Amino acid sequence: MIIDIDRLPKEGLKISKELEFFPESLVEENAVFLKPVHAELTVNKTGEEIFIKGKVTTCLSFVCSRCLIPFEFPVDSSFDLVYVPEELEEMQDHLGDEDINRLFYCGYKIDIKEVVLEQLNLMFPPKLLCSEDCQGICPVCGKVIQSGECACETKSSDPCLGKLKNFMRDKR
Ligand SMILES: [Zn+2]
Ligand SMILES: [Zn+2]
Repeated sequence: MIIDIDRLPKEGLKISKELEFFPESLVEENAVFLKPVHAELTVNKTGEEIFIKGKVTTCLSFVCSRCLIPFEFPVDSSFDLVYVPEELEEMQDHLGDEDINRLFYCGYKIDIKEVVLEQLNLMFPPKLLCSEDCQGICPVCGKVIQSGECACETKSSDPCLGKLKNFMRDKR
């Protein structure tokens, strides 16, 4: 969905839309969309500046980077963006620090789908884990430790190793 900035009504534009994306367009390519992306946006124009306020909700499935089991990742995120014409990018150096979060549009058009996609990509945590304390896969038997099936002795904090670490620290 492309917004023609010249034709943007004075009172702004309200958008409520379901958007479909290909997982390949995400930074996390192994993601699966469990639901379409729902976007609620308001687009307003003040001078050359375009303000996009909105909210995206969806639900994705990621593969946990520790245990490799897919888990659901609900998305419910709000954002507040300011777009300025691309021509102003060259003047970026002259803009103050508070303007650093500005985004740029070109050709008097903004593609809403791209806006939403960018926001989606920004909201993923750097490490995708099914839970913060996911124990991952047992290095001995290869089973998922959390499932409780594994009976191997794989304490990550080996007391001997701890002593060695302290010893090394004292040496320094
Ligand atoms: Zn996990
Ligand atoms: Zn094991």
